[in-house]
Amino acid sequence: MRGSLPEDLRDVLPRAELDVEAALEKVRPICDDVRHRGAAAVRELTARFDGVEIASARVPAEALKGALAELDPRVRAALEESIRRARLVHRDQRRADVTTEVVPGGTVTERWVPVDRVGLYVPGGRAVYPSSVVMNVVPAQEAGVGSLAVASPAQKEFGGLPHPTILAACALLGVEEVYSVGGAQAVAMFAYGTEDCAPVTMVTGPGNIYVAAAKRLLKGVIGIDSEAGPTEIAILADETADPVHVAADLISQAEHDTIAAAVLVTTSAELADAVEKELPGQVSATKHSGRITEALSGKQSGIVLVSSIDDGLKVVDAYAAEHLEIHTAGAAAVAARVRNAGAIFVGTYAPVSLGDYLAGSNHVLPTGGCACHSSGLSVQSFLRGIHVVDYSRDALAGAAAHVSVLADAEDLPAHGAAIRARFDWRVPE
Ligand code: NAD
Repeated sequence: MRGSLPEDLRDVLPRAELDVEAALEKVRPICDDVRHRGAAAVRELTARFDGVEIASARVPAEALKGALAELDPRVRAALEESIRRARLVHRDQRRADVTTEVVPGGTVTERWVPVDRVGLYVPGGRAVYPSSVVMNVVPAQEAGVGSLAVASPAQKEFGGLPHPTILAACALLGVEEVYSVGGAQAVAMFAYGTEDCAPVTMVTGPGNIYVAAAKRLLKGVIGIDSEAGPTEIAILADETADPVHVAADLISQAEHDTIAAAVLVTTSAELADAVEKELPGQVSATKHSGRITEALSGKQSGIVLVSSIDDGLKVVDAYAAEHLEIHTAGAAAVAARVRNAGAIFVGTYAPVSLGDYLAGSNHVLPTGGCACHSSGLSVQSFLRGIHVVDYSRDALAGAAAHVSVLADAEDLPAHGAAIRARFDWRVPE
């Protein structure tokens, strides 16, 4: 992409073949089935998509306790540190209620109230994500959500329960309501409720394309966070970047999914060549090389050459990546100019892998370009701001004439009358 940039950058940037819109048609019958047949549909869909028969989706309390008791102490220590760091960051996010005195005797307070009950999705198809238990549960708890349920796919090798490390992470965080259900059927179970699971008001969490599509389909029935679908990494780099680090970070996100996206945007043809040379060796040395090769060679991944960092910023802003790494000279200053990204990782020592587990930031982030209008999961995601309006008689009198005029201008005279009724049907002077 040397020379002048095309008018609409989004048309020329790498994007996955299978998008959320296309997956909607696949998940619609799944969600309808759960809506109409409840727990029986959930069991049948679990047998179909996860290859395991479950008697009930609800995970027994003993299984949670047992998983924590048997958790590898090193994994336990790492999870505890991940939780500690996430709590530090998320506790600081809680906004205070704000009261504004609009006129003497007339105030508006914005009161932040947590949603009553949430369903938290924890992926577990190609990989299992105990880290996503932390990323969902910590902000919900810090927001003060009263009722929390977690769902994660049933695993054949664990007798139809979610992966034991996921159960242990739930137990570590004090979550008692856990379901072994994955995919769109989990989102539908939360939205509509079943014999096993009371409906929730909001579903959050990352997942594959079917989970993201179900969240889009059922938005309105439930509140959702962003669409946190198949992972994306974009790296903005110049000639100062280390190709070994750049290649490793592209690979680390390609590891999530065959349709994960890994995009390098660089001003340096030499770096582009060096990264291309570096990739095969690193890919073949890693465990999930097949999945990674598919992700890196897919339509959604690639290298974009730009003439300047300014053009590079235009490209990454148009792409609005879930994760954006900056490997340039003066990385912090470049990062400060980015407008669209789920999360920004500044310089060589803040790779996305750190953010996936232990930075303290949240790893549930908007994908598919949604970062231009949505944020990652946070305490704020679980709170609603309620305006509390409190006006005295004198304060209302001071507003009455303007309200009447505006009500008449909208041809809604009963609005003005509701004010006048409080002042013997006269608008106060
Ligand atoms: P998952 O739990 O999201 O999906 C597994 C479920 O998908 C299965 O239980 C099954 O019910 C359903 N499914 C599989 N094939 C299907 C089909 N053909 N039709 C309908 N349903 C089907 O686990 P996963 O597949 O490993 O995906 C995890 C995803 O989460 C990855 O794409 C990863 O990139 C993403 N992720 C995103 C973020 C983020 O914040 N954006 C964070 C972590 C992970």
